[in-house]
Amino acid sequence: MWSTDREVAAGDVVIIWQTRDIIQPLLITPGKDLNSRFGHYRHADLIGVPYGSKVGSSNGKGFIHVLRPTPELWTMALPHRTQILYLADIAFITSWLNIRRGSRVIEAGTGSGSFSHSVVRTIGSAGHLWSYEFHEVRAEKAREEFNRHGMADIVTLTHRNVCKDGFTVTDTVDSVFLDLPAPWDAVEHAKKALRKDCTTRICCFSPCMEQVLRTVTALNDAGFTDITMYETLLKPHDVHQIPVPISLSDIVDKLKKSEFKREEKRLRQIANSSKRKRDSSVDKDDGSKKAKTDDDTSNTAEIGPAAVPVTIQSITETTPVPSQPAKVNLSKPMQEVRGHTSYLTFARLLPISFSPQMPDLDENMVKSD
Ligand code: SAM
Repeated sequence: MWSTDREVAAGDVVIIWQTRDIIQPLLITPGKDLNSRFGHYRHADLIGVPYGSKVGSSNGKGFIHVLRPTPELWTMALPHRTQILYLADIAFITSWLNIRRGSRVIEAGTGSGSFSHSVVRTIGSAGHLWSYEFHEVRAEKAREEFNRHGMADIVTLTHRNVCKDGFTVTDTVDSVFLDLPAPWDAVEHAKKALRKDCTTRICCFSPCMEQVLRTVTALNDAGFTDITMYETLLKPHDVHQIPVPISLSDIVDKLKKSEFKREEKRLRQIANSSKRKRDSSVDKDDGSKKAKTDDDTSNTAEIGPAAVPVTIQSITETTPVPSQPAKVNLSKPMQEVRGHTSYLTFARLLPISFSPQMPDLDENMVKSD
């Protein structure tokens, strides 16, 4: 799809990563410059730089990362001409539609081409994507991008109103994906385009429940089965490593002090109870018990050093205390959650020859389900 060379060349499309929120595609054109709040960069200076490099600006203001495009990065960076599909939905749809290497797929509309790029990578040159868009300018822009990204042989893009005029292929595709304002109007057309020799699949992407209900009715009327609706809700977490405000050596010191305090208390209790015993003995038999009390005192003194807790000794003697403070991983949900984009309505179309006694002809579907 994109350049597979190790280094950036003139004419390559690269992804410029500035921050998590500032990611942009760039067509490397010698003579042009990139100016951002992270500095000034000549395209010519990026030629020959290995993909994945961190590049400093020529005016010393900051740096950028120069990345090789992938469908995931393209979705994050692409110029929006419409609402687009994001990765959580793309992954789920691709999986449920059983899109894989060699699949033949229809999508309508093309929009900004976010879904198209992922599908093309998945199906590879053995598969084919028929993409339909009724907005002429959007169709033209998408065509330019598909050509520039080396996808022209895998995608056939048609400028067309699929709800009115249907698709250009019949009994051909394994799956259909509809991202349209009125997908129910395209369901019968989709049925015509789907293969009839095995189980095939359809997905309709609609933002509200009223649209879902109309789509479900149309799918039922057209003879689709296993109609199922999902919603993908993604809750990303921001993970940071932060230093804990106390170092390991401080923790050891604190532990040691509290252990010694506990030990001190224990020894005091032993001494007190010995004293109590001694006093009661003196009351009974003054002379004989006096000598024993001296022994008790020496025994008590011996208990002290031997009772220093082994755990603390082993920490202090064997654990190298880091000079840097310890760090912990902290995770918190991100503020902006691009969660609900739409409801995904899926259905299957069984082969014409299917009868309940027959095994499901889509062997791969059975394996993957
Ligand atoms: N899935 C696309 C993506 O990931 O970038 C976004 C599709 S966008 C939300 C919907 C597109 O469908 C728009 O570009 C619109 O012009 C196109 N569209 C709407 N009705 C159509 C129709 N009847 N036939 C073909 N395209 C249509």
